[in-house]
Amino acid sequence: MKTIGLLGGMSWESTVSYYQALNRGVKEQLGGLHSAKIVMNSVNFAEIEKLQHDGDWDQTAEILSAAAKGVQAGGADFLLIGTNTMHKVADQVEEAIDIPLLHIADATAMALQEKGVERVGLLGTQFTMQQDFYKGRLSSQHAIEVQTPDEAQQSWVHEIIYNELCRGEIKEDSRDLFLAIIEDMHEEGAEAVILGCTEIALLVSQADTEVPLFDTTQIHCEAAVKLAIGPK
Ligand code: GLU
Repeated sequence: MKTIGLLGGMSWESTVSYYQALNRGVKEQLGGLHSAKIVMNSVNFAEIEKLQHDGDWDQTAEILSAAAKGVQAGGADFLLIGTNTMHKVADQVEEAIDIPLLHIADATAMALQEKGVERVGLLGTQFTMQQDFYKGRLSSQHAIEVQTPDEAQQSWVHEIIYNELCRGEIKEDSRDLFLAIIEDMHEEGAEAVILGCTEIALLVSQADTEVPLFDTTQIHCEAAVKLAIGPK
């Protein structure tokens, strides 16, 4: 079994989900007491979040690159960055290490393509919904058309992610708002919706809506398990 490297802590609420999903994925396939081999480096999200909102992405890249080198030195065979947003600096992190990076948008694109989805709605931070590092990769590298909520909805989603979900606060009103936005995107032509922030599945799940959801945390972990122990 390969050793999975993980950059965690962004936020740690979703790193808990990663840890569970990676271990459950290995147990499902190998049974018994089998569990995932993981080397994790968990950063302080307060530092990252401040730098993001100050626009100092180079400094975030330095922090994550140093953390990734630690993961590599700890024996990981490949790396996961456990957040969609911080894939903004994925290229710099990848350059700093010799092990491969399993990109969350590539794993998500493959999951969408397996289900034949060509036009998809995207929920995530404003960085993820607005900038090209994520949307652009889905469209230019994977030919998937990406639709985002309107500006007001984007800003509500962004605030809920940072002020509630990353702090472990799950509120009924926020769930209703997310579900209404998912419904809107579906009505505007999205065949499915990407939960493109690793905390969103803490708030909404497939049981809440008929619109097909693609949870990036789950998808990223399933792809990692496949890489670590081979296909089912
Ligand atoms: N975990 C979130 C994501 O997947 C947001 C936190 C962050 O800014 O890294 O984008």
